[in-house]
Amino acid sequence: MLDYSKFKEVHELFLKGKNREAKHLLKELQSKYISLCDQVSSLKLQVKEYDDILHFSENLIFDGNYYWLKTGSVRHGPFCADCCNDEGMLVRLPHGHTKKICWRCGKQYLPQPARTSAPTERKMGKVIPLHTPAVSEEHDNAAAK
Ligand SMILES: [Zn+2]
Repeated sequence: MLDYSKFKEVHELFLKGKNREAKHLLKELQSKYISLCDQVSSLKLQVKEYDDILHFSENLIFDGNYYWLKTGSVRHGPFCADCCNDEGMLVRLPHGHTKKICWRCGKQYLPQPARTSAPTERKMGKVIPLHTPAVSEEHDNAAAK
């Protein structure tokens, strides 16, 4: 951490004519400043990485068979579910209603019948509240019966 009072101290040392001591203190401050700049750059990269991971998890969709990655209005994929679940890797599978075999893990996906309606997409990373209101629980119990 850079101490602002040290800059005042440097100024006072120069005013008193103690140039050697002032230069020494200034060099110390300079190396601390450079070190802090390096730390800021490193932390900015880390924040960018976390931001990318967050964006990725918010836009990764599982349709019951495959994973899809949404980028704006475009849906990329399909991606192998096993590779994504086990290794966190997106391995693209062939498009269309054909038999798909993952080149990485070898999992075979049977051809899916063409859907007439839009697939129900489930987003990853859903937040489950720790405290649910009693009204909601009664509703869920009633729906389960
Ligand atoms: Zn796979």
